[in-house]
Amino acid sequence: MNSAPQFARVTVIGLGLIGSSIVRAVKQLGLAGESVATDASPEVRSRAVELGLADRIAATNAEAVKDADLVIVCVPVGACGDVAASIGPHLKAGAIVSDVGSVKGVILREMAPHLPKTVQFIPAHPVAGTEHSGPDAGFAELFINRWCILTPPPGADPSAVEKLAEFWRALGANVETMAADHHDLVLAVTSHLPHLIAYTIVGTADELEDVTRSEVLKFSAGGFRDFTRIAASDPTMWRDVFLANKDAVLEMLGAFQEDLSKLTRAIRRGDGEALFEHFTRTRAIRRGIVNLGQETASADFGRPHADLPKKAPEK
Ligand code: NAP
Repeated sequence: MNSAPQFARVTVIGLGLIGSSIVRAVKQLGLAGESVATDASPEVRSRAVELGLADRIAATNAEAVKDADLVIVCVPVGACGDVAASIGPHLKAGAIVSDVGSVKGVILREMAPHLPKTVQFIPAHPVAGTEHSGPDAGFAELFINRWCILTPPPGADPSAVEKLAEFWRALGANVETMAADHHDLVLAVTSHLPHLIAYTIVGTADELEDVTRSEVLKFSAGGFRDFTRIAASDPTMWRDVFLANKDAVLEMLGAFQEDLSKLTRAIRRGDGEALFEHFTRTRAIRRGIVNLGQETASADFGRPHADLPKKAPEK
């Protein structure tokens, strides 16, 4: 537990996976004198009360941000502009306003015009998540040893940037700062493209005629199963990500299609050397991610295995 709260009042808007995880961590770590939260959905608000997620659950966004020193908007990217419009006139002078959206260029363009000059707007993206959504899916430890990327606009107050960085470090995250457009390019290849591939391959398998659906499910441990986890991610969130990061995703998709064509050609020509060289290179990338502590080195992606039945004692 921290000796002193970092902020007198922290407000979280949107109590899904990310928002409910943040507010849980704020409470557990004592990072705010008072935590306040809200959500557009009355069901989510009453569930948040039942779970005791924050000190206070407000009925509206405007009421929630009153006198807050830090406001974090945790709604789908496509809803961030409307949320900024709903809170703009009610923000306290000197407050830090941030978000957690998976795309950053559009957040800056759509939120900033609604926010008064008296607040510090510092967008952020915690690169952490699961395929689950809603207030029950969150947990305080979600951000431990994950990256949180801050994308302060030009002219942002460095002390406010550092205060927000300190907040994320308190949640267990490693913090990096970069320009919004660069963030969008990096995430297009590390997150958005892999999701698109997973959505595609799971859809393709579902539409095959010569392989039955029950066979796909039965033999999924051959690799398909790991794509299905990614393809189970929230449809609203991912629709918004692809609409908001169109240019960067199309650029990365072009590079991907070229590489896919090269591998297709190698398979068609029986070019084992090209395939082997490619797979050796990609195996080294996987080792690099494990070495950086961003993945487990355990076999089968760390999935727990059932014990073999004990051998019956010999008679
Ligand atoms: P989520 O579980 O679907 O929760 C979003 C919550 O925001 C929902 O309860 C939603 O209510 C509420 N909401 C929508 N519009 C609102 C509004 N205008 N005012 C107040 N509340 C509103 O989503 P999430 O996974 O936490 O994602 C939230 C943000 O985090 C997204 O921008 C996403 O890009 C980003 N992010 C997600 C992940 C991830 O892995 N999930 C990782 C990093 C960043 P309704 O259900 O009623 O619409």
